[in-house]
Amino acid sequence: MELRGPTNFRRLAQLRRPLLAWYDQNRRDLPWRASRDPYHIWVSEVMLQQTRVAAVLPRYEKFLRRFPSVQKLASARVTSVLAEWSGLGYYRRARNLHAAAKEIVRERAGIFPQDSETWRKLPGIGRYTAAAIASIAFGEPVAVLDGNVDRVLRRLLGSNSVRESWNAAQQILDRKRPGDFNQAIMELGAMVCVPGEPLCSQCPIGTLCRTRGRGEARTSKPKQRKVSSSFALATRGDSVFLVQRHADESLMPGMWEMPKVESLIRRDEVLFTVRHSITVSDYLVSVIAQSAAPMARGTWVKYARANKLPLTGLATKILRKANIIE
Ligand code: SF4
Repeated sequence: MELRGPTNFRRLAQLRRPLLAWYDQNRRDLPWRASRDPYHIWVSEVMLQQTRVAAVLPRYEKFLRRFPSVQKLASARVTSVLAEWSGLGYYRRARNLHAAAKEIVRERAGIFPQDSETWRKLPGIGRYTAAAIASIAFGEPVAVLDGNVDRVLRRLLGSNSVRESWNAAQQILDRKRPGDFNQAIMELGAMVCVPGEPLCSQCPIGTLCRTRGRGEARTSKPKQRKVSSSFALATRGDSVFLVQRHADESLMPGMWEMPKVESLIRRDEVLFTVRHSITVSDYLVSVIAQSAAPMARGTWVKYARANKLPLTGLATKILRKANIIE
């Protein structure tokens, strides 16, 4: 690959030392960084896909307490795994994690692959995740490219396609500390070379940067669509009425939620409201209190058991607000 402009890779090799020194001093103290255990790294990388660090933090250690090893994860029921994933969204990740754990235990006697190529053969593991696990847990010199790294490389080198960025990432990778280097460049993208206005005055590799953020097409976030909806919160003693989504639904199949209210509702019927965002939709959800079962389909579930069911993110939010679950 030839990147445009005067910058070349030999010169860029100079960025390794200051970038790693900056990372050693400034990296956030995140729980998965304390471990080189491939199981821990794998779980954290899957949780962090399309999910903010702040949302993953409270779930990561709890998940590992519940499923402390790949064997425990493989022998769990998928509903228990989904329940523990509740609130993180994108539940296909949890199903794939569970399927891959079964495969590792059944076909590899619980031994993790040690290289990125073999990791990629497991369910739910793409090029990024395979490289992240193999470089961090096993020191394989393979580069990662996520949104943060791509942004840094486009600014730093002027790369103008994902293909160029993958190539550049591999060429500038520090081969002695590949896992740390991958995390360092991701951390730079998350903390300094941020979307919008990069903080170039704080950048440890600013002198090597081709653009310093100039000349970027500013992309505005897609506008969120406002949507109103209503759900029934029916309780009886210490039970709540829940319905299970059909197994062939495209979104959140098999998960539990409150029944939807399709009829018009009066303002004085609303117990409380919650906001809930999913991709480009911003939902304002009205919750209506009911004492009888609102529909034939569904079942009464004890409060203590509701905590253990795979609930949708919205159902979790409503039941927490109603003090039904923790
Ligand atoms: Fe990003 Fe600015 Fe550093 Fe360049 S100098 S890599 S634009 S933070």
